[in-house]
Amino acid sequence: MDNNNIRVRFAPSPTGPLHIGGVRTALYNYLFAKKNGGKFILRIEDTDQTRFVPGAEEYIIESFEWCGIEFDEGVGKGGPFGPYKQSERKEIYRQYADALIESGNAYYAFDTPGELNNKRKEYESQKKNFSYNAAERMNMRNSLSLPGYETKKLLKEGVPYVIRFKMPEDETVEMNDLIRGKVVVNTKVLDDKVLYKSDGMPTYHLANVVDDHLMEISHVIRGEEWLPSLPLHVLLYKALGWEAPEFAHLPLLLKPEGNGKLSKRDGDRLGFPVFPLQWKDPKTGELSRGYREDGYFPEAFVNMLVLLGWNPGDERELFTLEELTKVFSIERVNKSGAKFDPEKAKWFNHQYLIRKSDEELAGLFMPVLKEHGIEADKDFVKTVIGLVKERATFVKDLWDQSYFFFIAPEEYDKKAVKKRWKAQSYDQMKELSEILKNTEPFTSANIEETVKKWIEEKEYGMGGVMNAFRLLIVGALKGPHLFDIVALIGKAETLKRMEKGLQTLGKKE
Ligand code: GLU
Repeated sequence: MDNNNIRVRFAPSPTGPLHIGGVRTALYNYLFAKKNGGKFILRIEDTDQTRFVPGAEEYIIESFEWCGIEFDEGVGKGGPFGPYKQSERKEIYRQYADALIESGNAYYAFDTPGELNNKRKEYESQKKNFSYNAAERMNMRNSLSLPGYETKKLLKEGVPYVIRFKMPEDETVEMNDLIRGKVVVNTKVLDDKVLYKSDGMPTYHLANVVDDHLMEISHVIRGEEWLPSLPLHVLLYKALGWEAPEFAHLPLLLKPEGNGKLSKRDGDRLGFPVFPLQWKDPKTGELSRGYREDGYFPEAFVNMLVLLGWNPGDERELFTLEELTKVFSIERVNKSGAKFDPEKAKWFNHQYLIRKSDEELAGLFMPVLKEHGIEADKDFVKTVIGLVKERATFVKDLWDQSYFFFIAPEEYDKKAVKKRWKAQSYDQMKELSEILKNTEPFTSANIEETVKKWIEEKEYGMGGVMNAFRLLIVGALKGPHLFDIVALIGKAETLKRMEKGLQTLGKKE
């Protein structure tokens, strides 16, 4: 059922690749919208031109396409509340900054970067931090401290200025967070944030609040790092005479070990991606790995992410995106940070891989085979996949688990040969190849029965025979059930491999 009152947004700044924490924020917004029949909006917050990175916006859009997370409105999509990119909404913000000055909630500040720097240094020399706040503002150069005519003159002369929020001096702000409950802050600890910059652009705070209001956002669901900005935002809504939306601040994604926010460095150090897609830094050319390129299925990636900070209330772990839109609820989002577990991410991929049909996996695996120069029959590939998929995490792993179905061994694992190719192996394998020559039908079950009977009659050691046999067929002591392998590669190929192996390994003295 549609609910026009529920509107949420994901509002990234295009400053680089999207961290998986950002993808999770978007995912929770998406699920919340879908669950409640609302709308999900993509807004690009690019008011800080100094931090703009080319390609980042396209990267964000492509990431969500890959994940299967769809927006209802926004950049690349359009909609009735556009434009959805803040740099294209430039003219909208000024009037609200003016209104705040008009109502006495904001003021012009003329302090130059040099003056502000000196102030900071002066404080540092006394081992204190400078904060542009109620206690300090009258010592600075602004429309509160200067006489009215002076302000007028400076404005007329076109002296650069910023517009700052006049933070109430000693007021208790009570806020509600859907995840954390009641949050109380006294304005004494807050400063007079810049709302509008000298370059004619709003800052994040002003643009964010104005747009959430104009786009009729009902719920702001975002990362915990924005919680310290909440009192300012709530006061801005009040000062502008608007009703504030509901807020939910999501817990951080934490490093696999210890505490602290999961960073790209953790990923590099421990060998896992922290970005959905590969990213090439346009300045340095540095390449960062992505889940897509590492071989993750988007469904597994999304499933892994959703459980980092949310739980369904029972032990269930596997959910499709569609199922999540029914069971997700903000009430079940945890307050505390979620530790990222790279092994668990792989586990999810494995779970999705083994649930895929042999047909689908064969389709994905054929190109990998082709890269190895192998043109195989699809039905043969399907059967191979059925035998080995339990052992694979990624499609690319299927090669390591199955190459011996497609190519005869060129070499024989040295360690295995040393340990398992015994004095009697040569004669036993010669004998076995004679037996296999006459084994009909050449099916796994029949070969198994024949071989076992022969071993029993001759009173050979089962392990010894099977290891030697496997060495000749596979070239190493790995792979699925050996009788399945030989049945699938067929009698001629089996005998050929045995002969070649016998020639290469020879009789051990
Ligand atoms: N542009 C902010 C960011 O990059 C958005 C924060 C918010 O959702 O309010 O995270």
